[in-house]
Amino acid sequence: MIPGPFEYFAPRSLSDAVKFLSAHKDDVKILSGGQSLLPLMKMRLSKPAFVVDIGRLPGLDQIVEQGDHLVIGALVTHAQIEFSVLLKTKCPLLPQTATTIADVQVRNRGTIGGSIAHADPAGDWPATIIALDAEIQVSGPNGERWVKCDEFFLGLLMSVLEPDEIVTAVKVPVTGNDKTAYMKAAPRSSGFAVVGVAVRLAVNSSGTCSRAAIGITGVTDKAYRPGRVEQMLTGKRLDTSTIQQAAAEACRNVEPIEDINGSAEYRKQLTEVYVTRAVEAALRT
Ligand SMILES: Cc1cc2nc3c(=O)[nH]c(=O)nc-3n(C[C@H](O)[C@H](O)[C@H](O)COP(=O)(O)OP(=O)(O)OC[C@H]3O[C@@H](n4cnc5c(N)ncnc54)[C@H](O)[C@@H]3O)c2cc1C
Repeated sequence: MIPGPFEYFAPRSLSDAVKFLSAHKDDVKILSGGQSLLPLMKMRLSKPAFVVDIGRLPGLDQIVEQGDHLVIGALVTHAQIEFSVLLKTKCPLLPQTATTIADVQVRNRGTIGGSIAHADPAGDWPATIIALDAEIQVSGPNGERWVKCDEFFLGLLMSVLEPDEIVTAVKVPVTGNDKTAYMKAAPRSSGFAVVGVAVRLAVNSSGTCSRAAIGITGVTDKAYRPGRVEQMLTGKRLDTSTIQQAAAEACRNVEPIEDINGSAEYRKQLTEVYVTRAVEAALRT
């Protein structure tokens, strides 16, 4: 399939990119890795008159350690994250997540900034970044702002991004000795999560969980933190029965979606199973 006609612009600076977006904001799309945008354009589900290719913007493809945080540029690919020695040491939940995304080709082109901006409810990064309490850097005509990731996603393919704003970076904490894991159930054809669960646990020397953070994707129109599960794990020794009782609360206060991959009831059960598995996997790290 062939996309509709569009005017292509490849700016060399962030300010030129923002100016172009502002001038054409009613009918413009940003192109990063193209792994979501190009299929949509080829199917004519997206028909922008203007496409801004941000792939040549300088400095957005770096992973930088800043004190007790890591700043990951928006153009960093899933593959860069998968193989980053720095991340494997300082924030392993990111490479753990990246390895589960799609296939080698998609991981080589797709970017973390594009995935976050796209706000796909079955995307993997939203679960992981909300479990990490990440912040998202956004640049636009009024300069730069940082958005807490639990405020960023609004719903199906919707976020707080304005049409003339660009996601430029994601800031995550160094997770030190925390135990982390990402697990998902996904059809082999796409790899998109029917249920995806990111887990970050702080466990003290006596084996008690002192902090639990969990992000869940694929289940509703946006990734969420199951607050009740986190509460039920915190302050406890995480034996099988404690984990299973907590996991049973994973869909409290949410209404799982229904689609060709499964009914709401199926998703609810799958979520319990994958929360249990992801917590157990984190404890083994
Ligand atoms: C076969 C296949 C399987 C896949 N499987 C998975 C999977 O298992 N898990 C998963 O999470 N994803 C999966 N994806 C999606 C993939 O991860 C994409 O890379 C990702 O969704 C979008 O990133 P991108 O860089 O390709 O963005 P693009 O496709 O270039 O852009 C996506 C959208 O975000 C906007 N955008 C892009 N970058 C920015 C930015 N910096 N600031 C503001 N807006 C921006 C674009 O305008 C567009 O609307 C799959 C894709 C394919 C084709």
